[in-house]
Amino acid sequence: VKKDEDVREGTHKKEDCKPAVFIPVDRLPEIQEARLRLPILAEEQVIMEAVRENECVVLCGETGSGKTTQVPQFLYEAGYASSGGIIGVTEPRRVAAISMSHRVATEMNLPSGVVSYQIRYEGNVTENTKIKFMTDGVLLKEIQKDFLLQKYRVVIIDEAHERSVYTDILIGLLSRIVPLRNKKGLPMKLIIMSATLRVEDFTENKRLFRTPPPVIKVEARQFAVTVHFNKRTPVDNYTGEAFRGILVFLTGQAEVHSVCRRLRKAFPYRPHREHTGSVLCSQSLSQSLPRINLDSYSALPADEGDEDRQAGIDDDYNEGSDLELELGDHPDKEKADPSIPLYVLPLYSLLAPELQAKVFHPPPAGARLCVIATNVAETSLTIPGVKYVVDCGRVKKRFYDRVTGVSSFKVTWISQASANQRAGRAGRTEPGHCYRLYSSAVFGDFSLFSEAEITRRPVDDLVLQMKDLNIEKVVNFPFPTPPSSEALISAEQLLISLGALEEPPRHGRARLSCPITPLGRAMAAFPVAPRYAKMLALGRQQGCMPYIITIVAAMTVREIFEDYDRPAGSEEENTKMAGKKARSVQMRRLWAGQGQSVQLGDLMVLLGAVGACEFAGCTHQFCEENGLRYKAMLEIRRLRGQLTNAVNAVCSDAGVYVDNQMAPPTESQVLCLRQIVLAGLGDHIARRVQAEELLDPKWRNGYKTPLLDDPVFIHPSSALHKTLPEFVVYQEIMETTKMYMRGVCAVQAEWIPKLLPQYCHFSAPEESPAPWFCPLSGRVKCHQQSTFYRVSWKLPAIEM
Ligand code: ADP
Ligand code: MG
Repeated sequence: VKKDEDVREGTHKKEDCKPAVFIPVDRLPEIQEARLRLPILAEEQVIMEAVRENECVVLCGETGSGKTTQVPQFLYEAGYASSGGIIGVTEPRRVAAISMSHRVATEMNLPSGVVSYQIRYEGNVTENTKIKFMTDGVLLKEIQKDFLLQKYRVVIIDEAHERSVYTDILIGLLSRIVPLRNKKGLPMKLIIMSATLRVEDFTENKRLFRTPPPVIKVEARQFAVTVHFNKRTPVDNYTGEAFRGILVFLTGQAEVHSVCRRLRKAFPYRPHREHTGSVLCSQSLSQSLPRINLDSYSALPADEGDEDRQAGIDDDYNEGSDLELELGDHPDKEKADPSIPLYVLPLYSLLAPELQAKVFHPPPAGARLCVIATNVAETSLTIPGVKYVVDCGRVKKRFYDRVTGVSSFKVTWISQASANQRAGRAGRTEPGHCYRLYSSAVFGDFSLFSEAEITRRPVDDLVLQMKDLNIEKVVNFPFPTPPSSEALISAEQLLISLGALEEPPRHGRARLSCPITPLGRAMAAFPVAPRYAKMLALGRQQGCMPYIITIVAAMTVREIFEDYDRPAGSEEENTKMAGKKARSVQMRRLWAGQGQSVQLGDLMVLLGAVGACEFAGCTHQFCEENGLRYKAMLEIRRLRGQLTNAVNAVCSDAGVYVDNQMAPPTESQVLCLRQIVLAGLGDHIARRVQAEELLDPKWRNGYKTPLLDDPVFIHPSSALHKTLPEFVVYQEIMETTKMYMRGVCAVQAEWIPKLLPQYCHFSAPEESPAPWFCPLSGRVKCHQQSTFYRVSWKLPAIEM
């Protein structure tokens, strides 16, 4: 302890920037004691020296070694936040940004106005903020406003090993910004922190850093973890296997809940009574588990963005009973003793923050903490006192087909790096055990590392952001891992057709270097994907803006409706759920409206739901009663405010405001809204199949899209499921049991050549009906026929 304190003082004295505004840190004794046990404390001097001598430093250390919580404190105490600039820390996950800011504030005994956080919708940053945790997307937006990031004295990119898209882009941008700052005499430091040692993509990449940054490794005081592989071939019923565990890794929220429920039943913890020690035998329990339809698995609402995914139901291919892990194998009898009550806690990204924080507190006396978690517990959050890890070996990921634009969630095997991360969670305070629910042969087939997210998803939003930063040749950007040129080309094409980029001259300029248009700049100012930004840019017609803002906000938020198809437990729960589901279906029908508004389809339902909810004061009760996700509604509310501000900033005379008593749109407004939606989602168009295709039964009620060979369908929960309009646009296609369009809106054929001329082929002017003189424009007008894109749908003639 003595030595560590010396190190601390030494660092203090050596630092050249003397605190001008420096609130001294006065930690509580128990906090200080816990800190001193962290491996990173021993490296403070080495780290701070490297930071002083280099513009950029890469720091690798096992999860739990103290990177996230301690490095900002080192920098603060060394005076990096005392000469005006602040310390910024980016996280790929919102959960981490919030919880780490709270933790660091607690450790430093400073208020949240000094150690703060900022995520997309909320934050507690003040002008006194010295350490700011934020999601990587937030910092990217700030770069757009101030390329030199002059607010920041140090930027820490945390969890770089996750290779989230924004993190990758930030590293690329900062590799340019930091030298520029230092050249201008505005000193700035960059620290890249990673939980794995695989950092060559950052250090050996000559396009990123001409001189490779030093890599500092923090040796974690990791205890041995005995890995127990499953002896049998992989089981599909891994939630049955994971049944006894301490930190259990599963893939999604629904799985987490179902295992929690089963564990609570089997190892009851009763807070008010002395525990009796009798528990259900696990075998009979697993036989009494409800069977779940596998098909419904991926049909659940999809999660989006920075967090793990929401959907997920147990497979039920096998009976759990004959696949139980053989726990009697090893000498640690305590583990197999079913008489110890379990204090079971779920942990996943969408869980309310106060419930998430529970995992950091010790369990009640006599009970054993058992956390059932998704991937969030792999590296972002370190749970204290874990001795046993149960790893299902899988993760749920969003897959995106670059060519067709179809998304799906799939549960896939994790990488070896991830598996080792998970196992490592067991050996933090003493030797531990990791139970892998897969064999060593299966482990051998895992890929070594997970691939960077940027190679797996569309990049149109990134390309637009970069063009707005005047990076015209996006291909030359120093990506740690570049996206495929295919992905860059399709992004550029989409942006050209949305009018955000200038159309390249037919034989001129090389591809992938089109400059941004004024419309593109306006679109880049909106914190939503380009298609939605286009809708906002067009929203100022017939008073449609507040509606468009609401629709866009609702579309970009993860599923707004409660999911009543998840597995319940008891008969009673099932009945209750069925009742709620019926009510929710009824409400959706009501929100879909009548007349014209029905044609706006699912977007009208979104608008109606948000409108009704806000009208009722957006209460928890209203949401609960009407099948809305309260958390989603709050998010929409914040996003509406944010988008409204953005619209007013882009066009100062727009004068829109958030009206919580918003009347439903008029018939003509609905017509206008549908056209705006068409203009934004123009490449997401589908046409009901024609008579000749119906010969094949698979096309019944199907729709044809320009890019897919197979039919797509309107989901039974859609407002347009019965109507089946001829032309529709959709928000996205999710592949579950079939390919379903989500967020469907009906459009009229004659709008297509007018609003989407870039996708149409036009005929020569027609003689019949005869051309006529238009007194308004003073020009001769005539008819033109058009066909749509590659599918050559014949569209009605328009006047030209
Ligand atoms: P790393 O970033 O290297 O993975 P962290 O800085 O996140 O490590 O964690 C360091 C230590 O702080 C861990 O032992 C972790 O358990 C502890 N810790 C983090 N957050 C909390 C919290 N909210 N309450 C109690 N302990 C915490
Ligand atoms: Mg961390």
